[in-house]
Amino acid sequence: MKRNRIFVTRRIPEAGLEMLKEHFEVEVSPLDRDLTRDEILQMTAGAQGMVSMATDSIDKDCLNRLSGIQIIANYAVGFNNIDIDYAREKGIVVTNTPGILTEATADIAMALILCVARRIVEGDRLVRRGDFKGFYPTFFLGVELENKVLGIYGLGRIGKAVARKAVAFGLRILYHDVEPLDRESPDFPADYVSFDELLRKSDFLSIHVPLNDETRHRFTRKEFERMKDTAFLINAARGPIIREEDLVYALENRLIAGAGLDVYEFEPKVHPGLIGLENVVLLPHIGSAASEVRERMSLMVADNIIAFFQGKVPPNRVN
Ligand code: NAP
Repeated sequence: MKRNRIFVTRRIPEAGLEMLKEHFEVEVSPLDRDLTRDEILQMTAGAQGMVSMATDSIDKDCLNRLSGIQIIANYAVGFNNIDIDYAREKGIVVTNTPGILTEATADIAMALILCVARRIVEGDRLVRRGDFKGFYPTFFLGVELENKVLGIYGLGRIGKAVARKAVAFGLRILYHDVEPLDRESPDFPADYVSFDELLRKSDFLSIHVPLNDETRHRFTRKEFERMKDTAFLINAARGPIIREEDLVYALENRLIAGAGLDVYEFEPKVHPGLIGLENVVLLPHIGSAASEVRERMSLMVADNIIAFFQGKVPPNRVN
């Protein structure tokens, strides 16, 4: 019997590819870079399934022109790069990779919090420049975490993991989400507040919502004006949740004290205004970039595609 063909837009760890190869003809893009729309359309011709990256924009136009694809397994937990409602209309199933990257991404948010609070990356730059002239009491002061308020915007899987880790550092947790946690988690160490209170009360504000119509540009100059001028903003979710131009304004004008970013509005471009600022830490979108995690993600996309072609509901279907 002819085997279904699966196209993978970018090389993923071998474990998942091997699993897919047991069931399907598998083709990985030979280009090993982000593909253009036309390249995606050409390379998926004749395929019944695809593994996409968070960097592949699969909008209405793309879905209309993808012929024969029955399932798209996104190699990410976020699926803002795919029009999942339109995919459903077209009868295309979409899956994601939730849970397995939660702790690693929460680690990156904590790392950013520590880096901005204690000026760690700035300190490293100073030492490498040869500007370390010795200890003195007023040298290179940051802020301690103990008893500061960490505001979490989006207390889902990653937001909760950040809260748990942050409690160990002595941070007090406030959060805002669509609604307060259900009664099943009465002991969770975080208090629900309005979005406005989250802005006003946070010493560190860490973003963990998905990118959607409501959260796009949720942080603009107006929100920065409501934050403490001593506060730090952390984003390890998706870049366009922050209007980057306004963040640069807020940092340059000290509306807030600093920022730690893993993601950018126009990735991989970074606003030039951020590059020269000492009070920001800039990471290259590495939230889930731990080798164990990336391997588990490869197995999860394979699991979903295999289940689909066995006639089952894929375990991580999102539409
Ligand atoms: P999750 O479990 O779905 O958590 C997201 C939380 O945000 C949920 O509680 C959700 O509530 C809430 N939310 C959604 N829209 C909201 C809104 N408008 N206002 C307030 N709260 C809202 O997802 P997760 O696994 O924690 O992942 C979160 C995001 O992190 C992903 O979508 C992805 O974009 C990002 N991420 C980034 C990296 C990286 O490499 N930097 C890695 C992994 C994930 P409901 O459940 O009620 O909708």
